[in-house]
Amino acid sequence: MIRTLITGGAGFIGSHMCDYLFKKGHEVFCMDNLITGDTSNIAHIHDDRFHFIKHDVTKYIYIKGKLDYIIHFASPASPIDYLQYPIQTLKVGSLGTHKALGLAKEKKAIFFLASTSEIYGDPLIHPQKEDYWGNVNPIGIRGVYDEAKRFAEAMAMAYHRYHGIDTRIVRIFNTYGPRMRINDGRAIPNFITQALKGEDITVYGDGSQTRSFCYVSDLVEGIYRLLISNEDYPVNLGNPSEMTILQMAEKIIDFTKSKSKIVFNPLPEDDPKVRQPDISKAKEVLKWQPGVTLDKGLEETIQYFRKKINA
Ligand code: UDP
Repeated sequence: MIRTLITGGAGFIGSHMCDYLFKKGHEVFCMDNLITGDTSNIAHIHDDRFHFIKHDVTKYIYIKGKLDYIIHFASPASPIDYLQYPIQTLKVGSLGTHKALGLAKEKKAIFFLASTSEIYGDPLIHPQKEDYWGNVNPIGIRGVYDEAKRFAEAMAMAYHRYHGIDTRIVRIFNTYGPRMRINDGRAIPNFITQALKGEDITVYGDGSQTRSFCYVSDLVEGIYRLLISNEDYPVNLGNPSEMTILQMAEKIIDFTKSKSKIVFNPLPEDDPKVRQPDISKAKEVLKWQPGVTLDKGLEETIQYFRKKINA
């Protein structure tokens, strides 16, 4: 049986990965320290093939027996989390990645890193291709995440070159869907929650900044294809259909039939002005492209938030 460790497995994307690999027949070891993850995301998987381990991956990791894949997803991943957990964010990207790579070397496992479009910073090249090195402010409030993930990529490549570890690096662009935290501070959870509660919709800046939102099931399918590919270098995964944040706010008001009004709040420091993945590499190497429309994805996500809010 294929045995896989997923760090950050109780988080938003991590828990969807647990589901996906469990359904593929893997024995899944889900590790999380639960600072931003939540066991309710994995509570539905009851089986001898699924193990939850509460552990901080910046400390020594031990798993008995063989491991085929180590999927390193653990990290706070929203701007509010970086403010609240700046040091943990840096530690999990650096020390946590080191521990996970050490384990991959010991077990001769394939190492899979969840990296991010944030490594491109406030990009000067648009859309972003994998060969762009980015425009990052190392000492800004987002620097803790951006630099930790840049370090994590460098560390993975060093283990690849020096120790011959098989590496897979996904640069994840904005992703949304069920199991996002209501209060994680990101645009989609904020807007949906505000719209459903009839509160003001807080658009930061004038809302002209752009993002490209990918539904989580598309992302997870792409991640799996990368996992089983032979591609050791970074691959962008995301949905290239780009929109302004103001358009997203209006769409969510429309979809929830909300009476909420849009208010304009100050733009946070270093908030990227544009973001859109160039996914030609994923199309070519993984034969992958997203298929879920924004309308369908938002419908599913709003339904999830409705239940959470009424619970
Ligand atoms: N944003 C907003 N209102 C909110 C939360 C976020 O206007 O209540 C903006 C944010 O400033 C950014 C965009 O929405 O320009 C996407 O933010 P998110 O935190 O979702 O992701 P990221 O900035 O990491 O792409």
